[in-house]
Amino acid sequence: MDDCIFCKIAAGEIPATVVYEDDAVIAFDDLNPQAPVHTLVIPKAHHAHIVDGVPAETLAAMVHAIQEVARIKGLDEGFRVIANTGEAAGQTVHHFHMHVLGGKPLGENLV
Ligand code: 5GP
Ligand code: ZN
Repeated sequence: MDDCIFCKIAAGEIPATVVYEDDAVIAFDDLNPQAPVHTLVIPKAHHAHIVDGVPAETLAAMVHAIQEVARIKGLDEGFRVIANTGEAAGQTVHHFHMHVLGGKPLGENLV
């Protein structure tokens, strides 16, 4: 999709620190990390958010990528996965992505 920053990262047109990649998904470190580990997992195909017609196999590939990120980053103590969905949830990049956060105690509160 034109003018989508995450499509450009998926296409290799914008640099990113890639943690994991396969045919369907790519995981890269967030530009503005909110925790010692803050990696984004995105589908290579453009979907605006998690309820924008994402095929089941793409969702499965994303969960697999999250498992790989946790392994590669050594998140043995635990981590959090967040998918901001829509403006009210604070989604700023409208290409579906899951945040993987960890590397420090995150507390019990979700928000
Ligand atoms: P959202 O608020 O939409 O859930 O999260 C978007 C995330 O994308 C933010 O955490 C932001 O720091 C990150 N981000 C925005 N632009 C870029 C970029 O060009 N490169 C990388 N690596 N992360 C980005
Ligand atoms: Zn996109």
